[in-house]
Amino acid sequence: MNRAFEAHVNEVLAEIDQAGLTKTERVLTTPQSGVIGVQRAEGNLLNFCANNYLGLADAPQVVEAAHAGLDAYGFGMASVRFICGTQTPHRELEEKLSAFLGTEDTILCSSCFDANGGVFEALFGPEDAIISDELNHASLIDGIRLCKASRSRYRNADMADLEARLQEASGARFTVIVTDGVFSMDGAYAPLREICDLADQYGALVLVDDSHAVGFVGENGRGTPELFGVADRVDIITGTLGKALGGASGGYVSASSGIVTLLRQRARPYLFSNSVAPTVVAGSLAALEGIEASGEARARLVENTVLFRELMTEAGFDLDPFAGSESAATRPADVPPHPITPVMFPGEDGARTATAIAEHMLAAGVYVIPFSFPVVPRGKARIRVQLSAAHSTGDVRACVAAFAAAREAVG
Ligand SMILES: *Cc1c(COP(=O)(O)O)cnc(C)c1O
Repeated sequence: MNRAFEAHVNEVLAEIDQAGLTKTERVLTTPQSGVIGVQRAEGNLLNFCANNYLGLADAPQVVEAAHAGLDAYGFGMASVRFICGTQTPHRELEEKLSAFLGTEDTILCSSCFDANGGVFEALFGPEDAIISDELNHASLIDGIRLCKASRSRYRNADMADLEARLQEASGARFTVIVTDGVFSMDGAYAPLREICDLADQYGALVLVDDSHAVGFVGENGRGTPELFGVADRVDIITGTLGKALGGASGGYVSASSGIVTLLRQRARPYLFSNSVAPTVVAGSLAALEGIEASGEARARLVENTVLFRELMTEAGFDLDPFAGSESAATRPADVPPHPITPVMFPGEDGARTATAIAEHMLAAGVYVIPFSFPVVPRGKARIRVQLSAAHSTGDVRACVAAFAAAREAVG
């Protein structure tokens, strides 16, 4: 043990703690679902903070398919894909994802973090320019850092600022605009129609990370490109299997067959890391098939989201993360609300209020999580509620009632 280094580590940990930024984990004692058991909490809790949008994380058909995958293909691959780590279900899942997303080909990675970590460096070089929304996911930020292209950021969803960056990048060989399909703290959609218009005007490519949309956003659940009618104008899509698509793990890049073929040659997380385990591939396939076959869960998710927003608005809660800010991000009137619903506690005391309310709700059997600076801007503390198709109407009403009771108690 290096004592000096241990002392340094403890100092850093103390600093994190003093700033009130220590993250603790609550430990679930049950499968991920609409109702969960949590260590050191009384009874079962209603769960309003998972990405289990379609309730597939413990769905019987997904669990059964995973069991069958385990029996048929074993536990693990003990190899990366290109050496001897590809089985028939890996290819089948890639083909199904391509058909679902309307692309030519798809490359599977062990996470979307890896997909985003590998895609830029493999495709772009020092002659190119990458222009990224300031609120993009950490994995996009890191993936872009690993690439030698010049890089710039535009203000969240701000098309004037994006255009200015496009003009600055006019000398680049290729320019790519990079955005999350949905911004996870606000539940806001990226303005993909406008982004694609600017991309056309400046001859740029568009890359969308659709992790918080694939499976449930858009008429057939194909994500934000479908929602905005621009599926044929987005060049590269990345996404996760770890949210709506069963919620286990795995990620992908979906694009033209040329782009995907090049990624199979060059993307480092693909070349140097094991792929998704056979059980997970089999379960994810079942999740995807279920999504294609039925819009029922998707419809229930929209109903729950709309109901929650109505009841919370009636109860006088503030659901607008953009109130009083200069952000250009809003939700277009012609698209349904995203199940990420920020309940805002603005102002100086907001962080404390949000924390107190969340604690009170937890004691009352409703699990929600408060977010404050630096995860969201100062003065914009919130409790981020995530609706799921796994919730019943009664669950949604119970959540609203718990908010109201907690507000009463906290004052
Ligand atoms: C969740 C998320 C990821 C990470 O997905 P993993 O498959 O868990 O690595 C990447 N990008 C976005 C936008 C996400 O929301």
